[in-house]
Amino acid sequence: MSSTTPPLAGKLGGLQSSVIRDLLKLTSRADVISLAGGLPDAGLMPRERIAKAAEAALSTAACLQYTESPGWAPLRAVLAERESARLGRPVGIDEVFVTHGSQQALSLLAEVLLDPGALVIVEDPAYVGALQVFRAAGARIIALPMDSEGMRVELLAELLATGERPAVVHTVSNFHNPGGVTMSPARRQALAELADAHGFWVIEDDPYGELWFDRPAPAPVATYSRKVIRLSSSSKIIAPTLRVGWMIAPPSVFGGVELLKQGADLCGSALTQQIAADLLSDEAWLTAHVDTVRTAYGTRAKALVHALRASFGDRLVCTDATGGMFVWADFTDGTDTKALLPQALDAGVAYVPGYAFAATTGYANSLRLCFTTSDPVTLSEAVHRLARAAA
Ligand code: PMP
Repeated sequence: MSSTTPPLAGKLGGLQSSVIRDLLKLTSRADVISLAGGLPDAGLMPRERIAKAAEAALSTAACLQYTESPGWAPLRAVLAERESARLGRPVGIDEVFVTHGSQQALSLLAEVLLDPGALVIVEDPAYVGALQVFRAAGARIIALPMDSEGMRVELLAELLATGERPAVVHTVSNFHNPGGVTMSPARRQALAELADAHGFWVIEDDPYGELWFDRPAPAPVATYSRKVIRLSSSSKIIAPTLRVGWMIAPPSVFGGVELLKQGADLCGSALTQQIAADLLSDEAWLTAHVDTVRTAYGTRAKALVHALRASFGDRLVCTDATGGMFVWADFTDGTDTKALLPQALDAGVAYVPGYAFAATTGYANSLRLCFTTSDPVTLSEAVHRLARAAA
């Protein structure tokens, strides 16, 4: 009998656990104010409304049964109506595919759209969950920098001019995680035109679009081209535990995703999909609820940005936080945010250092701060602690 452990698949070789998930283990100490996690505020999640919807769903046996792989039809109908309003065109129910959070949409799409070695363009700094998925698919990844208008689409045009042919361009168009910025309407249109001209898919990953503070997010990239596969989620506006995300996809992609979803998990949960359908179709309630979340996050974001600017002045440049859950900041004096972290933890504050979001290297002087789970007074104390650690 051989005692050697049988091998794992070769594709696991290049994969690393997310630095952020590892970090969260360190930052969960009670004496640390953590701005590291990327979690929505559980205190704002509508437990009573969910309980009411669960009770209604449980009054029939249907919610206990398997459902269709693309999702429970009445939920898909509700989503089709909401996305029609968002995209400014009638979205058919046959375009709406419900996934186990939008993370599963990313993972299924990587399998459907990418052969090993295919080129994927991501934004730099990148959404780590997308990087993990594209790496697992064996993609060749090129990361394009962002500025205050989001992905620098002109650099994509330059890349295409050199003969590079991406299979997929991934963008978090609204209130970027981790970058905090929103892609401008002109860039959205330019990206869509490049997709049409060169024949690549765009994955518009948009879980934060409804969490705007001052003005609504611009029209989705998907309004400009049918080469755009649009993803969204109930995680940030209702609760991640429902694991209800969705994609709006053309028939060929939809068919591929359906085949793979059958293999992955047969179908999602009919129970949480019925709960999501109940809440998402209750327009008056949902509007008021999302408004409450927006107002709370907006107040917290402004408190964090104000405290950072007051404490650090020119030593730190940070985004304005016009929506979403994150502020991205860069030290201008060369402070190394990875080296600073142990001192920050000692001072009682946690953040994620920028290098955790780099597709390759960089962001040694940057950090991501999440403002959703602390009140303004706590956020201001967190910034005092950070300033003490960085003194
Ligand atoms: N995309 C982005 C940009 C995210 O930040 C997240 C959550 N952190 C997701 C997708 C996945 O969210 P979910 O699976 O809960 O919908």
